[in-house]
Amino acid sequence: MSGLKLYNTLSRKIETFTSIAKGRAGLYTCGPTVYNFAHIGNLRTYIFEDVLRRVLEYDGYQVTHAMNITDVGHLVSDADEGEDKMEVGAKREGKLPLEIAKKYETAFFEDLKSLNVELPHKVLRATDAIKEQIEIIKTLEQKRFTYKDGYAIYFDTSKLPDYGKLSGQKLSDKKTGARSGVIVDTKKRNPADFALWFFLAGRYKNHILHWPSPWGEGFPGWHIECSAISRKLLGQPFDIHTGGVDHIGTHHTNEIAQSESALGKPLANFWLHGEFLLLKEGKMAKSGGSFITLKTVLDKGFSPLAYRYLCLSAHWRSKLNFSWESLDAAQNALDNLYEKISELEGSPSIAMCDDYARAFDREINRDLDMPRALSLTWRLMKKPNPDKLKLSTIKHFDRVLGLDLLKGAAERKKIPAEIKELAARRDEARAKKDFASSDRIRKEIESEGFQVRDTEDGTLIRKK
Ligand SMILES: [Zn+2]
Repeated sequence: MSGLKLYNTLSRKIETFTSIAKGRAGLYTCGPTVYNFAHIGNLRTYIFEDVLRRVLEYDGYQVTHAMNITDVGHLVSDADEGEDKMEVGAKREGKLPLEIAKKYETAFFEDLKSLNVELPHKVLRATDAIKEQIEIIKTLEQKRFTYKDGYAIYFDTSKLPDYGKLSGQKLSDKKTGARSGVIVDTKKRNPADFALWFFLAGRYKNHILHWPSPWGEGFPGWHIECSAISRKLLGQPFDIHTGGVDHIGTHHTNEIAQSESALGKPLANFWLHGEFLLLKEGKMAKSGGSFITLKTVLDKGFSPLAYRYLCLSAHWRSKLNFSWESLDAAQNALDNLYEKISELEGSPSIAMCDDYARAFDREINRDLDMPRALSLTWRLMKKPNPDKLKLSTIKHFDRVLGLDLLKGAAERKKIPAEIKELAARRDEARAKKDFASSDRIRKEIESEGFQVRDTEDGTLIRKK
């Protein structure tokens, strides 16, 4: 099998990936809380996870990719406080939580499709796995990892000496301090203890979604759903668990605590966490004013794959600064790449530029180094090699890049000669600083149903 190297948060090291079952890989991705649209920061994580899955498939693994959908129990704060996000969404739109869930789940999968993110093979909603969640809580209760008060059943973190092993103790302290603020439920024995099951009491007295349980009517906490769903869909242990870095300190730490205490074996062998997308104002969050969705991106005339290209241009473990200028540069780069590929003659065959294929192999297997894989793609385009070989190499690369490179190039070929002629005339006008003519030609091109973009390489046109 391959020499795939991945940075494992659990060991804080780059390790060679080996799977539990030969030739197969089980991958679990924390899914969305479906109370609102995903923002592009969330989507960056799903693009990273898609690259991981595509590299595993490229390496010949038969991947089973599983995901949960959070439609109950995810509170506004990770510290077991605040409203259920689903009820926040329901109130905002005057609908029932499950109506909200359905709407945003559909929108989420539409976003993934337009970003060429391969959809998970198995998806399970938290509300469809209540029985499995109750089972784990029962086991934890039997093993004396729980206690309860009038509001909830809690996991007692003091029973688990290596509770903070995923984040490292220091980081965990810092994160808890920064994120949760004041502990409201003073009956909690330790600040890190977390709710497994909420009762219909206190602020949750009127919680709309609730189910019977051995402890009375209530609803599950957020963390227990991923423990139950990953185990049901992939077994325990499974190979790789992924999510955003914001999941390390609380959500994933708690998943590990529950699952490993209940079953006495690891939950997953590899833990991979994608870094944040940053705006000038800081991290993107639904609670702040800086909430950009994929629809915002499309409404501004960008293609969804330009956003994918932008994400690939940064390493998944590096923070990525988002700006409209950087997205603009990504769109230009992608359109230019399509243009260069469209100039190649013939059609792809089996034979490839072998040295480039080997180099690509090396970069993607070295902790998913997509920035280097992208620059390799550009170097290939500049290489004096037969067009046919280049085309088949590009096709091969696109299995992992997922940028529709041949399709995008074919669409550029369909741009009529007279439109291309107009673009060339516009470049001449711009070179002479004749901006009146350049503007007039731009309008003419746009009226034919094409979008005009100015790049370092001159006018770029794209079908609207
Ligand atoms: Zn999760």
